[in-house]
Amino acid sequence: MKILVSDKLSDQGIELLQQESSWSTEVKTGLTPAELLQEIGQYDALLVRSNTKVTTDVIEAGTRLKVIGRAGTGVDNIDLDAATNKGIVVMNTPGGNSISVAELTLGLMLAMARSIPQASASTKHGKWDKKSFTGIELKEKTLGIVGFGKIGMEVARRARAFQMEVCVYDPYVSERLAQDLAVKLVSLDDLFAASDVISLHVPLVDATRHLINAASISRMKTGVRVINTARGELINEPDLVRALNEGKVAAAAIDVLSSEPPEAENLLVNHPKVVVTPHIAASTTEAQEIVGVEIAEQVRGFLKSGIIRNAVNFPSVSFEEYKRIGPFLRLGENLGAFLSQICEGRLNEVGIRYYGETVDINTHLLASSIIVGVLKPILGDGVNLINARKCLDERGILLIESRSNRMRSYSNLVSLRLKTDVREEWIEGTILSQDNMRLVSVDGIDIEAPLHGTILFIRNNDTPGVIGQIGTLLGSNDINIANFALGRGLNREAVGVVNVDNWVSDELLRKICHCPSIRFARIIQL
Ligand code: NAD
Repeated sequence: MKILVSDKLSDQGIELLQQESSWSTEVKTGLTPAELLQEIGQYDALLVRSNTKVTTDVIEAGTRLKVIGRAGTGVDNIDLDAATNKGIVVMNTPGGNSISVAELTLGLMLAMARSIPQASASTKHGKWDKKSFTGIELKEKTLGIVGFGKIGMEVARRARAFQMEVCVYDPYVSERLAQDLAVKLVSLDDLFAASDVISLHVPLVDATRHLINAASISRMKTGVRVINTARGELINEPDLVRALNEGKVAAAAIDVLSSEPPEAENLLVNHPKVVVTPHIAASTTEAQEIVGVEIAEQVRGFLKSGIIRNAVNFPSVSFEEYKRIGPFLRLGENLGAFLSQICEGRLNEVGIRYYGETVDINTHLLASSIIVGVLKPILGDGVNLINARKCLDERGILLIESRSNRMRSYSNLVSLRLKTDVREEWIEGTILSQDNMRLVSVDGIDIEAPLHGTILFIRNNDTPGVIGQIGTLLGSNDINIANFALGRGLNREAVGVVNVDNWVSDELLRKICHCPSIRFARIIQL
């Protein structure tokens, strides 16, 4: 077995691999992309941190590769699709660096509140300027935490020790968990309005990109302070610079930037009110030791015994079983993703009922794939078949599964219900043949539509002309309709599922929403 470690990994982690006497573990850091391409073909496993870019080309050239281990959480430096296509397991070590990131967040908060870096620089330059550095106390200030996962929770625990009030926005966290940690769950707008300090701890997904922008800043208190130790793209950087110049935002502390390393003339980095660090939140001896040892143990376990832990792209089943249940897993994920994208409110409960053939398959995995679909729009690659149930548990969301022997019109059927604090929605889907999955009901209204790709979903009044209006709007925007399905319910209610070939812009969606008979419209990406 040959293992390549291409980024700096803890000595203890490397020793663990070297203990396997018949294996050869080679550490080659600083390889250029061309050198990596040339070398990778001889190795069975590749261990990286965030420096090595494991591109499609690297994966193609890695003809012997069985596993890629990422010491850390984010796998954005690895082409997951390419790895999955080639059957390469990609593992990471979620949570190993949460404490370190939380501690840096608190460090940045203090540094900002007291202008520590600026005061230190001024003193080192020979000044004794006591007047320019009057700060604020954190005690009794409100900290708004956006994203209450592993790191957000650790930040909250530490901020409470500073006697701060903590409010949290995270639609996937239950009231129960918030009470346990003595934080207040609020809407994003309320968090913006109430917070003296705002700290970001969400993953980078479509919904969180540029979460901090001119519009959201305008809803914040004047003099707010902003911390970002999550991902640079969560902030629209020019908008933040403008708000710092205008005094709307008093200060910012940034560990991550949308372009790393930044250009020399980057206005945010050079701003006098900004404390900036070079993406070092996880760079502590302890965190690197933990993630180095964890990834070495996981890769060793996989190469020796086939045990898959913390895989981000692979279910823990035999190849034969995976082939049998694969179509159902894809159905489950798409049902989950469909319903979570039309659902409104804070999720409290996921209900799944299995009918027909689905009763007899591995429903544990099927339920996990549904949860992946439900959580993916907000957790991105952080949720997978392996950790789906844990992600749900951590958020205090109930999972209720049941099997029914009631005869239905399809030989297999999965019914999914999501209950939020606002309403309850449910849909049903089936597999007609390998890879031909269908949505067959929405809120009890029968419909039949392909369940993949880009979908325009509408709820409308059952009046003449709806199809014509939608068709004309899509057509005039050069959007091809692949399938148009309508279902009629009681009380003149109807639902429509329009499979389209291209993405529908926000502007066009707004126009669709304004059509007289349309009650609700959403674009869903599966
Ligand atoms: P996590 O998955 O445990 O938590 C993320 C939380 O965000 C979840 O609870 C989720 O429900 C919530 N969330 C998702 N979408 C949301 C939305 N639109 N609005 C509000 N909440 C939303 O992740 P984590 O380990 O706590 O990591 C948080 C962030 O920190 C990630 O972006 C990660 O990449 C980053 N990180 C940075 C460093 C660094 O070196 N600076 C190190 C580790 C992690």
